[in-house]
Amino acid sequence: MYEKLITFIKKDVTGENESNRVSYIVRINGFIMSLYFFIWMLGFGINNSVLGFSACALCFAINVLASYFTYQNKNATALTIYAGGIIMWMVLFVIRWGWDGGVQHYLFVMLLLVFVGTYASTRIKLVECVVLYGIRLFLFMWHLNHEAIEPLSKEVSIVIQNINMIAIYISMIVILFIFTNDKMVTEAKLASYNRELKFKSQSDTLTGLPNRSAVMETLTDTLLSGKSTNGVCVAIGDIDFFKKVNDTYGHEAGDEVLKTLAKRFNIFMQNKGIAARWGGEEFLFVFLDDNLDDAALHLENLLTQVRGIVIPYNNQLLKVTMTIGVSDINAFVYKDTDSEDIENRIYEAISAADKKLYIGKQNGRNTLIV
Ligand code: GH3
Ligand code: MG
Ligand code: MG
Repeated sequence: MYEKLITFIKKDVTGENESNRVSYIVRINGFIMSLYFFIWMLGFGINNSVLGFSACALCFAINVLASYFTYQNKNATALTIYAGGIIMWMVLFVIRWGWDGGVQHYLFVMLLLVFVGTYASTRIKLVECVVLYGIRLFLFMWHLNHEAIEPLSKEVSIVIQNINMIAIYISMIVILFIFTNDKMVTEAKLASYNRELKFKSQSDTLTGLPNRSAVMETLTDTLLSGKSTNGVCVAIGDIDFFKKVNDTYGHEAGDEVLKTLAKRFNIFMQNKGIAARWGGEEFLFVFLDDNLDDAALHLENLLTQVRGIVIPYNNQLLKVTMTIGVSDINAFVYKDTDSEDIENRIYEAISAADKKLYIGKQNGRNTLIV
């Protein structure tokens, strides 16, 4: 029962990226006020007051209607109907029963709704605030200059004042609660979207490895920080006769090879640096704190591993080899190289590694050229 009620109240009418704050706020206030007017209807009914009963029945219907419109995604209409009903009730109450019932404080609930229950421009919101102030001023002046038609006794005033205070208090708490909660949820959503966007913009979709721009960013930061005591090396690896794999087994088989190798490269480069997809069937290996000799040693091991990798695809076992060229970035970066120049230096180092790779291809492939 409770679950069903919560689902009914929370029924979403907006898209997944939009906030449903406005719907909830107007809807729940509509429900609260429907209950409020229903209680008044009972009170007036017991006391045989036709005017009071009719006015409250009308206000009850207005609030049910306002809640209904929030389910149709017509929040502005819902809010207008809701506000119209409350203003009518306040004016009627003050004129007929006086100021001591405290009904005029509903203007503060409406003031909150102007700011957190609408998407209007600041100008419109300010105009609405002035209008609300005008209504309150009018009611106050009326009360000063006119006797209530049916003045309330002190005891009745206390009861009514308390009913109104409780309803106003609950309305304001509900509005503020939904608003702050929604703000936190929205902020969390935004942070998660940003993380997702950043990940997508920095990684290669096929292999999940960092892409060119991501690896360039890390390299630049590392070099500028000057933290690598042993040096920074870059290596370009290119799969041998990869076109043949595609031509013989199909493009999907080629993709499978790239994905399997990428996973292995990623594991291999842990604690050493980064494996990135440079483009096509070319991978970039960055050793963030190794001199050329150590990097070469690692890469020889990597080539041995690649030779042993068997990739099952459609009842076939695929095997590939790779040719690598490696170079030491420190040979291209000088003490006075500034942040603007550093990217060019990195590209020079990569280009040097690429030249070595080319030599490796000419020398029969499946090799490392240092
Ligand atoms: P080499 O030993 O000289 O490097 O020979 P190769 O066949 O590997 O070189 P080539 O540059 O002639 O061919 C590279 C091929 O890689 C061609 C291209 O279709 C393929 N390729 C590039 N990117 C992808 C990809 O994302 N998926 C698949 N399946 N193939 C790709
Ligand atoms: Mg290539
Ligand atoms: Mg190739």
